[in-house]
Parts: sequence; C-alpha cells; structure tokens
Amino acid sequence: MKIRITELKEDVNKLHLKANPEELDLQNEEADFNSPIVYNLTCTKSGDKFLCQGKLSTKVNLECARCLVVFSYDLKTSLDFILDVKDNQVELSSEGGDSDIKVACGEDLDINHLVREAILLALPLKPLCSLDCKGLCPVCGTDLNTSSCDCHKERSDPRWDKLKDFLKN
Ligand SMILES: [Zn+2]
Ligand SMILES: [Zn+2]
Repeated sequence: MKIRITELKEDVNKLHLKANPEELDLQNEEADFNSPIVYNLTCTKSGDKFLCQGKLSTKVNLECARCLVVFSYDLKTSLDFILDVKDNQVELSSEGGDSDIKVACGEDLDINHLVREAILLALPLKPLCSLDCKGLCPVCGTDLNTSSCDCHKERSDPRWDKLKDFLKN
C-alpha cells in the first residue's frame, strides 16, 4: 500500500487502499489470509501535518482454539498515524514509534510494514469459532458442538473430589 504524497490536497483526503496478503507478507502458520486487505482512511491537513485516521479490514481463516474447526474471522482494526511535512520531506510517525518512515515529498509513501504490524496485532490470541464453543471432549475427542459423548458423565474432574468430600463432612 502506498500513499501518493503529491496527490494529497490541502484540506481533507479520503483514501481507499487495498492490498493482497502476499504484498503485505502476511502468510503465517496460525492464520490463513485469503482476502484483500482494505484500508479506508482520512488524512486531514493541520498546519504542516496530516492527521491520518483509518480502519483496516479483511477476512482470515483461523483455527478455533477449542474445537480446532477452521472458521472465517472478520478482522477489523484501526490504524492512525501522523504525516509531518518539513524540508521537502514527509515523515510518518505512529503510536508504536518504531515503524517511522521518511520519504521525499515527490515520492510515494510505502505503508506496507505499518499495515502488516497492525493486522498481526489484531489477530485474536485465542480464536474461537463462537463465544460458546463447547470444544472437543478431552477424553475421546468428540466435537461437542455437533455431537455428544458419555465420557464426562462417568468421569468427574478429580479436582472436585476433595471439595465433594469436604461438603459431605
Ligand atoms: Zn470452536
Ligand atoms: Zn468423550
């Protein structure tokens, strides 16, 4: 994704950027990115600066941490930064700080690195296909969302045995 600095107007700029997962080097083991990444942002000029605020969205296939089913996840996150124009240069600074980029005013500003970081940070640590996913039976491996088994009726959690004894006494 690139911002054409020369095309930024004096007041408000609405940008609609799009990139493929390959361009952003997003493929990794946990997440299967298979849709374009869309970035809608507004860059508003204020003095020597452009305040840029935008929303990133894409779809990614993730494996549910409980039942191991692969499901499509709607990834949405925000990405804001400031473009500082001085001495014929544009400097991008974001909240993280370590992805600052600098280019000459006539050049395009490549924001792939920044977008990649924001997308990866927005991935859930523990993806769930649904909030009430029942997961797999720890004994026989049955997917408890689609069927049931008899395992946990017969087998109780040993951690509760002590408590049961305690309640009896
Ligand atoms: Zn699940
Ligand atoms: Zn079972």
